[in-house]
Amino acid sequence: MQFTAPQFKDNAARALADPQLQKALTNVEKGFIGKRAAAVAALPEFDALRDKGREIKNHTLAHLDLYLQAYERKVTESGGHVHWAESAEDARRLVLDICQRVGAKTVTKGKSMITEEINLNDFLFEHAIEPVETDLGEYIIQLRGEHPSHIIAPAVHLNKEQVEEDFRRVHTHLDPERDLTAPETLLSEARQVLRKRYFQADVGITGANFLIAETGTSVIVTNEGNGDLTQSLPKVHIVVASIEKLVPTLEDCSQILRLLARSATGQDISVYTTFSTGPRRTEDPDGPEEYHVILLDNGRTAMLGSEFQDMLRCIRCGACMNHCPVYHAVGGHAYGSVYPGPMGAVLTPSLFGVDISGHLPNASTFCGRCESVCPMHIPLPKMMRHWREREFEKHLNPATARYGLGVFAFIAKRPRLYRMATAIGARLLNLIGGSKGRITTLPFASGWTSIRDLPAPEAQTFTQQWAARQKQGA
Ligand code: SF4
Repeated sequence: MQFTAPQFKDNAARALADPQLQKALTNVEKGFIGKRAAAVAALPEFDALRDKGREIKNHTLAHLDLYLQAYERKVTESGGHVHWAESAEDARRLVLDICQRVGAKTVTKGKSMITEEINLNDFLFEHAIEPVETDLGEYIIQLRGEHPSHIIAPAVHLNKEQVEEDFRRVHTHLDPERDLTAPETLLSEARQVLRKRYFQADVGITGANFLIAETGTSVIVTNEGNGDLTQSLPKVHIVVASIEKLVPTLEDCSQILRLLARSATGQDISVYTTFSTGPRRTEDPDGPEEYHVILLDNGRTAMLGSEFQDMLRCIRCGACMNHCPVYHAVGGHAYGSVYPGPMGAVLTPSLFGVDISGHLPNASTFCGRCESVCPMHIPLPKMMRHWREREFEKHLNPATARYGLGVFAFIAKRPRLYRMATAIGARLLNLIGGSKGRITTLPFASGWTSIRDLPAPEAQTFTQQWAARQKQGA
């Protein structure tokens, strides 16, 4: 995908001015929040499970080298192959080598954010291999030549009329009388087309929600069953997964699975949870002849031991973006990177560098909802603050902001000066606000006042009012 994170402000302005997108984004608020809340309320031990999930992931990250080695041993014992990819380029090359060795012309794909991260589809196309997305949402955005705008609902930015239009444009065999606006009809139409593609595919590529060190198993959760067909019908199955997907045991995986669907879609559990261990054995009725796992680092090792390590606990449930007022306002594409919302605002600078991540760490109101709903207790606002500190240290913010903060720091460290400056400032702003109590233009704050009034403060500061009350009480 085209990386446009540095243009976040322009992307956001365009998104805010797009009435269709604004309407579609109301579905995020309406759809996900209530369902998650109901699922959480129905499980009294949900908070205890969150603690447990955090503990499992922290333990795994503290011993990641050992668990990765154990996982590789088990995959090899079961007849599979593990390949190590330090960078996105390495991972793409490994996928291509396997595809070219078996003469693949078509590959089917289960929904996978990691293959978005390494931009796999474009790369395969460039090498005359056609990737076919099989998850309905991913299939729709592939028809449109777009990228996901949400990590679990890739086409959430679209309305049903747009989707119908895309189907009619590409599925030219469709009867014009056939109503395609109901999700079931769309699903059945996509299913008919995709069935043929499954049988044509030489290779199936999936991501993994979890990798289990104890058994060498990769786990995917889906609601459509497309992942199962992707990984069991072609003769080669490739799993592309990042290293932090590891959990030590099946028991650990089952604990975190109880958090995942509830946090993501409000389901007790996803419709399909599929465990794959190695290629087809002689007694198996079906399955791939070759099973490969590509383990991707792509900057994760550098996060270990840093103030961003907690981000590696993420299980990609999407709850943080579902509850984020900034995501609700601008949608996922405005973030200009693979991962949107609060998790993207932390992960994008970690993976691609804060220098080119633009305003992402600033795209937050710091309301704290993301952290409060995160099933893995990831302190997202704290990590965004760390990125803001790095931005400041590297002089990436505008000079006016830096000088402004410098002046503030100078004053804030001198209590008498601070009290005097804030008293003058409050009085002045109160006078400017006049009888309406609102300020419509303000030098150095035109970004705020050009689109909304600033409420004028009280004429006295908090400390002045507090001192006056103390005096009255004495
Ligand atoms: S940061 Fe937390 S809430 Fe957001 S996707 Fe990851 S696990 Fe889910």
